[in-house]
Amino acid sequence: MHFKYFEHPEKFAVWLKLPTRCDFCGAEKRCFDGAAFLGSEPFTAICEECLLAGALREKDVYACEGDIAELQKQLQALKPHKSAGSVNRRAGEITDDLERTTPPIFTHQNWYWPCHGGDYCTFLGYGSKPLYHQLAPDGDGEEFFKNSLYHTVEDLSDVDELWEESLPEQTIDSLAAAKPLETLFYVFRSQQGGQVYTVWDRR
Ligand SMILES: [Zn+2]
Repeated sequence: MHFKYFEHPEKFAVWLKLPTRCDFCGAEKRCFDGAAFLGSEPFTAICEECLLAGALREKDVYACEGDIAELQKQLQALKPHKSAGSVNRRAGEITDDLERTTPPIFTHQNWYWPCHGGDYCTFLGYGSKPLYHQLAPDGDGEEFFKNSLYHTVEDLSDVDELWEESLPEQTIDSLAAAKPLETLFYVFRSQQGGQVYTVWDRR
């Protein structure tokens, strides 16, 4: 199934290991782990279809947290004639889509999901040196990585140290491969323009 903000849920989302009864449609099938969601209305399992169809809308449950303050700024800059009220409403709708129809992501800390050009970015996967080399148009992954840091982590980052000491040498191709790592890099691409952003955190 296609999730706008999560490119490879089959590899990187938080799934329950065995087929489970979905709390929303009752079918026994492969489900995302309810424990991986945040909020005050816990549940055990949700299937892909129910998540995509919006079963979590109107609930105090969310898969992640959008950088809504930044999104509001971007939307206002795109439509300067619109009132702040209408911009904020639109930002709220887009954020609701992100937080309540996106598969759960494994992270060490809580952080804000990057946005660009008035929409949230798509999570591509966990960063590694080979991934940045592959994403860099000129093949210079190190420079590309350094320029990809999202504004929320820019000031906290010793970019040389991160590249040298923390970025995995091998491609991370599953959640199981990411989980044991002390430092994780989350790689995103904008909906338009192909801008790549990195957020990172530590256990
Ligand atoms: Zn379901």
